Amino acid sequence: MNTFIAVDIGGTNIRCALFPEVGDSYISIKKIRTENPNDSSDTPNKRLVSCIENIWPKNDTVLGICAAAPGSVSINDGVVLLAPNIPGWNNLPLGKTLEQHFSVKTFINNDARLAAYGEWKKGAGIGHLNVIYFTISTGIGGGIIINGKPLQGDIGIATEVGHIIIDPNGPKCGCGQYGHLEAFSSGTAIENFIREKIISKDPESEYFQNEIPSAYKIAQAANSGNKLAIEAFNQAGYYLGIGVANYLHIFNPSCVIFGGGVTQSGDLLFDPFNVSLEKHILNKEYLNNLTITTAKLGDNAGLVGCVEFLRDIFIQI
Ligand SMILES: [Zn+2]
Repeated sequence: MNTFIAVDIGGTNIRCALFPEVGDSYISIKKIRTENPNDSSDTPNKRLVSCIENIWPKNDTVLGICAAAPGSVSINDGVVLLAPNIPGWNNLPLGKTLEQHFSVKTFINNDARLAAYGEWKKGAGIGHLNVIYFTISTGIGGGIIINGKPLQGDIGIATEVGHIIIDPNGPKCGCGQYGHLEAFSSGTAIENFIREKIISKDPESEYFQNEIPSAYKIAQAANSGNKLAIEAFNQAGYYLGIGVANYLHIFNPSCVIFGGGVTQSGDLLFDPFNVSLEKHILNKEYLNNLTITTAKLGDNAGLVGCVEFLRDIFIQI
């Protein structure tokens, strides 16, 4: 049997899955921690290789490997330019390393873009040709499908959807710049909003007893009626509406998909988002045939994206 190997590399865990050439479910899957806290010589790079070795089939043929890496990836040569959550992964020739070790064709791409590919092919975007996918958790990532093809950019670093500038005088982003969408609407942005209220001793912040809550806890507080928590989500939703309006004006998609933990806060985020989107859109035509939906594949979106990406490439060959 012919198989593919899909790899999802996160800051905390690496997951490798063996898929058949056709079919929806994986044959086997393995998860290991990205770093070994007990052994500094055991690098994430080595752990990734051993994770793949672990699921390598004894009797079947592996046609190709696709790995979803967090950060900027130069897709033509498989170099991870920068992965902020994995120490030492600067200009790492991951594609070449894996290809030499395993002697099969290997593709590396950005994790959020591959998750977008998975959601488009097998999840919430099925049947659409123009899709924008946002994953909103600690940061904001995503991917864009245009006329049935993923937008990659010249060297493959397009679709940094969280780092468009909403207000240059806005809060500092995780990337170091100011006023990006991520700095307004990510889980970190929601937490920072409450952090500042605690520091300025806003009376409503007493609810949090001087502890900076997670975005999940802030959602719970908002559902219990805490005004600051509601305000935090109102701000996130308002600026998300501005960001998405910008994307609709450029790409005119028929489907916008939201994944990631923060989007599970539901109406808290999406009520202010919808009001803001309608307010900032150039005209209603952008919204008339637009499906706005949540992601369907959960944590597996990246793995599914990897294997669908490989299937499409190998069908073309
Ligand atoms: Zn940024």
